[in-house]
Amino acid sequence: MYLHTSLKTGGPADLYAIPEDAEDLLYLLKELGERGIPWLTIGRGYNLLVRDKGIRGAVVSLERFNSISAISGSLIKAEAGVENLSVVRFAQKYGLGGIGFISGIPGTIGGAIKMNAGAYGEGILERTDHLTLLRSGNISDFRMDELDYGYRHLRLEDGDIVLSATFRLNERDASLTEEEIRKDLELRRLKHNVGFPSAGSFFKNPAGCAAWRLIDAAGMRGARIGGAQVSEVHSNFLVNTGSATTDDFLALSTKVINAVLSTSGVTLEEEVRIVGEI
Ligand SMILES: Cc1cc2nc3c(=O)[nH]c(=O)nc-3n(C[C@H](O)[C@H](O)[C@H](O)COP(=O)(O)OP(=O)(O)OC[C@H]3O[C@@H](n4cnc5c(N)ncnc54)[C@H](O)[C@@H]3O)c2cc1C
Repeated sequence: MYLHTSLKTGGPADLYAIPEDAEDLLYLLKELGERGIPWLTIGRGYNLLVRDKGIRGAVVSLERFNSISAISGSLIKAEAGVENLSVVRFAQKYGLGGIGFISGIPGTIGGAIKMNAGAYGEGILERTDHLTLLRSGNISDFRMDELDYGYRHLRLEDGDIVLSATFRLNERDASLTEEEIRKDLELRRLKHNVGFPSAGSFFKNPAGCAAWRLIDAAGMRGARIGGAQVSEVHSNFLVNTGSATTDDFLALSTKVINAVLSTSGVTLEEEVRIVGEI
């Protein structure tokens, strides 16, 4: 899986499937279900830490689910495989906005929805009108008030697949959106350019404080285990300096969590999703 994750670690999956469309996906899941094979849906792997033994079962990529459409008025629907910036650009063409904060978040709509990805205090699910999920072989729409979500999480049932998200946007001048996109990309170029593969913020920000401050206070900036290192540039980014294994990242993560707990009394929680065989 190191080819499919931004951290560039992790063993192989038993099967990697790229269904063509919903019909193909339904057929795949039926076949997997009949054989008792579990599956994990992934986007572009920007928030995934896959264990070194890899993934027992199938990994399903929705990269071919990549259409965007204007529904009516202020509603825009994007399939799970669409990249975040493409949604912002599409909305811009229709004079709509309010979702510019996802412009520079790497990955797909499926991953962003599952993670409730966000920036500047906003999360994508706050702009979402409803989701279309594949659950237990059925395709259904769910309004956001029917779902449980919060900071960087959306609770789904095991095996649920996000097929698409419909966003409710505001009228917005295209030039304002352009400015928003430009500023976000520039800020990220300055702050997130850590020089090595990463998954962005490794830990969630605990309520009321920034994880990087706690990590700095614990003296962990630059700490290293094997090829995994707490970035010297941004201490909530754990980076692969070239030869890291997932075990290196897991050991470094535990070291950081323990150091922060003993200096600040706060227990950090990983934002990256840790998956695969233990
Ligand atoms: C440099 C950098 C900067 C970043 N900045 C930010 C930031 O500002 N804000 C932020 O929130 N994140 C940030 N991230 C993290 C990452 O970009 C987001 O979490 C992103 O939403 C992950 O998208 P993805 O498509 O790569 O999902 P993946 O990493 O592939 O998957 C993430 C999770 O979603 C699940 N998933 C993916 N698709 C589906 C689907 N269709 N149905 C059901 N489950 C699915 C996966 O199983 C996994 O649990 C950053 C990462 C990097 C590398």
